[in-house]
Amino acid sequence: MVHCSLERMKDKIATFSKFGDTGHGGVTRFSLSPEALAARAEFKKRMEAIGADVVTDDMANMYATLPGTEKRKAIVSGSHLDSVRQGGNYDGVLGVMSAMEALETIVKEKIPHRHPLTAIVWTNEEGARFEPAMMSSGVICGKFTKEKMLASVAKDIPGYTFGEALEKSGFVGEQKNRLSPDKQCALIELHIEQGPVLEAEGYDIGAVDGVCGMVNYEFTFVGQADHAGTTPMKYRKDALYAAVKVIQYLHDELDKLDPALVYTTGKISAHPNIHTIIPDEVKFTLDARHYDPDVIRQVLALINSLPGEIVGCKVSYAEAWARKSVAYDPLLVDTVEECAKAYGYPCRRIHSGPGHDAQFVADILPTSMIFVPSVEGHSHCELEFTPAEACAKGVDVLIQTLLALDQKLD
Ligand SMILES: [Zn+2]
Repeated sequence: MVHCSLERMKDKIATFSKFGDTGHGGVTRFSLSPEALAARAEFKKRMEAIGADVVTDDMANMYATLPGTEKRKAIVSGSHLDSVRQGGNYDGVLGVMSAMEALETIVKEKIPHRHPLTAIVWTNEEGARFEPAMMSSGVICGKFTKEKMLASVAKDIPGYTFGEALEKSGFVGEQKNRLSPDKQCALIELHIEQGPVLEAEGYDIGAVDGVCGMVNYEFTFVGQADHAGTTPMKYRKDALYAAVKVIQYLHDELDKLDPALVYTTGKISAHPNIHTIIPDEVKFTLDARHYDPDVIRQVLALINSLPGEIVGCKVSYAEAWARKSVAYDPLLVDTVEECAKAYGYPCRRIHSGPGHDAQFVADILPTSMIFVPSVEGHSHCELEFTPAEACAKGVDVLIQTLLALDQKLD
């Protein structure tokens, strides 16, 4: 069995964590920022050093390709180098470093492969600076129109568009270089789990069989603003009190549905938000996720059963956005599982709660993902951590998966 180099992985983790280092264990590396461009340059330098051909497409996605021994479509692996504000050293970047390490190992060990092997870097996965998330994989896979994306304005510089940042980056290439079923035949993205399940259950590897569907609803409660000192309780139409009752009710009832359902009220606002005035308008969100569309339908049925009026306040709600479940390719998921078993690394099948570029790619290419454990499940924060040894096990499985697919795929 081939093993990656733990020393090289440690070196990559140490090197990439310097690009946008916050000084307390994490990084802020917004897409196309100077820090992100430095990380891209490092990727390019290291991939060219092993003889890979590095090109970019019109969304500045990067492709580092080792030629195969036969004229075939490429097998691709990779992720993103951008982060959220004060994010960790593993989300996204670990998938890129793993793809680099897989290619480096294959070159160093002189392992023959029929298909070209490509390490990919996606532009702007997080959407932390330019919305939306998964922007460039979305453009390539037909989810977003390029023109709209180019007009997306930076959250940190007024009026500064994604298109301008892209132009200035020096990484814009030709549209013909885009990932497509004409040139590529499969994609495997390695990523940290970003949740606590693998670690808690003692697994080294998650063979990701799909991405959970989700709905995000915004609820609005309209009452009457009145004086907090003069309005007797029985005459009040307190929108915040109505909202609280509904939050409590929804959470109690959602707990009765499937135990794998996760739901969150993460955003709430009260108007006028002044301590002497009874709130007249309150809004909150409900984000609910599950792999089975039937459970999501049960969530919607519960929302639709709410009365139009609660404690004298009008209740309304609307879908802010939704995402359907994505099923990954069974052959690829099986291959990840077989390869983990071959190393003796405990592996379970798992659904992804968060979104990833791979889920858009699943529309155009056979796709799957490999998860490695996140210590205590922390992610999108500086506490995000996966020991290098655990990362290396993921890379081993990635290498073996690429080589197995090299045999299995046309
Ligand atoms: Zn990510």
